[in-house]
Amino acid sequence: MAHAREKLVKALGEFEIWFLTGSQDLYGEETLRQVAENSRKIAEALDTSETVPVRVVWKPVVKNPEAILATCIEASATDKCVGVITWMHTFSPARMWIAGLQALTKPLLHLHTQFNRDLPWSEIDMDFMNLNQAAHGDREFAHIEARLGLARKTVAGHWQDAAVQQKIANWSRAACGVWEGKHLRLARFGDNMRNVAVTDGDKVSAQMVFGVSVNGFSVGDLVDAVRAVSIGRVNELVAEYEATYDVVASLRAGGANRESMLEAARIELALRDFMVEGGFGAITDTFENLDGLKQLPGIAAQRLMADGYGFGAEGDWKTAVLTRLVKVMARGLPGGTSFMEDYTYHLDPKDGKILGAHMLEVCPSISDKRPTVEIHPLGIGGRSDPVRLVFDAGTGPAIVVALMDMGDRFRILANEIDLVSPNAPMVKLPVGRAVWKPRPSLATSTECWLTAGGSHHSVLSRAVGAEVLADFAEMARVEFLLIDGDTTVGGFKKEIRWNEAYYGLSHGLR
Ligand code: MN
Repeated sequence: MAHAREKLVKALGEFEIWFLTGSQDLYGEETLRQVAENSRKIAEALDTSETVPVRVVWKPVVKNPEAILATCIEASATDKCVGVITWMHTFSPARMWIAGLQALTKPLLHLHTQFNRDLPWSEIDMDFMNLNQAAHGDREFAHIEARLGLARKTVAGHWQDAAVQQKIANWSRAACGVWEGKHLRLARFGDNMRNVAVTDGDKVSAQMVFGVSVNGFSVGDLVDAVRAVSIGRVNELVAEYEATYDVVASLRAGGANRESMLEAARIELALRDFMVEGGFGAITDTFENLDGLKQLPGIAAQRLMADGYGFGAEGDWKTAVLTRLVKVMARGLPGGTSFMEDYTYHLDPKDGKILGAHMLEVCPSISDKRPTVEIHPLGIGGRSDPVRLVFDAGTGPAIVVALMDMGDRFRILANEIDLVSPNAPMVKLPVGRAVWKPRPSLATSTECWLTAGGSHHSVLSRAVGAEVLADFAEMARVEFLLIDGDTTVGGFKKEIRWNEAYYGLSHGLR
């Protein structure tokens, strides 16, 4: 088993979920030995599950308040432990858990399962009943969770069931997002685009809620770094561009715009150096503050995103944070995740669609095809023509999600969508492009999105779904609104009003 465990590659395998089993001393040695053995088997099954992206670490069965408190303190103090799963194999009087749960600072999942799937109808006796009491042991535990008002996820079903393991996997991904937020540093070059409302926000609140540290830096420092990049490194990176993408003729060796591609590579290298040296996981820039940069970073921002960095254009640090967090939560899943902007509509009443794109900065991870490197003028910013990757997004189900500062709280808003092929190739639109049909319809989706004050910038992911985002919001205790196939405008409006009351009250009582 140990050998198999070491060989298993997990997408987020540097992180651990601790599996805590509750019991009590009064059952006697034989029963407690069985509790330990069974719970260890469940933890190992989750650990070796291909669905669950993190390590699952079994902890010795806790039987008294001292052991519960000690384990919860240890989980809270262990950085790589991103969350805790609890399960009451037997009855575990829940007042024993109060101190521990109050000390626990990690996301909590209550797994409501039992070791045996089927009831052994003709064999069952009182010994079996004594050992397998989750049906009421977990109710006792859940009562104290509710009484303490803990943010948590409850998952019910047999532990070998694929649907149960999927819910645990999604929650684990969200927990890794919470961990990333607490360790994330974001660098801003320039402020938000002047006069824009939705990209602004309270950085102190963001640090208190998500953990992220957002700080501004001078574009001048970046300009100096760009000038200092050696031509050898530039040539190496350009060779990588040529090996990875199709490059238009004017950017190839001897082409009229060759120097622009060398400059784009210089900008990418300087940005990468800056990110690595400063330990940054996300970045923003703005066309209003380019100082001595010859081009607005295009291919640089796109390729940094493809490597997992967060990015937000026009100084949009909240969307840059969200891009980074979703990329971490999505690690190892197919599909890709990008910074996105709702750009323009196809308003055919029978075929409503949204064209999403940006001036330059869409991540090629959402495409299934080989992008093209191209150069075209940019109407704004007043600099040289920027080099960018051009492609179409792949098709299939996806989600767009946005993060807004509503003044008294943050709001996460998501819409389930279906990416589709464009009605005709958009040959004159030289950017990364995504076309989608929002659920349940273009009219209902946009009426709800606007009612919620949702931003024009978002994160588009083909890799993670609504459950991961909802779990993340629960852990961060942030409002989460979802527009999906069942949403109605009337119901959605009421949900927003109820939320206003709930958050107003919960803030007032703090
Ligand atoms: Mn924009």
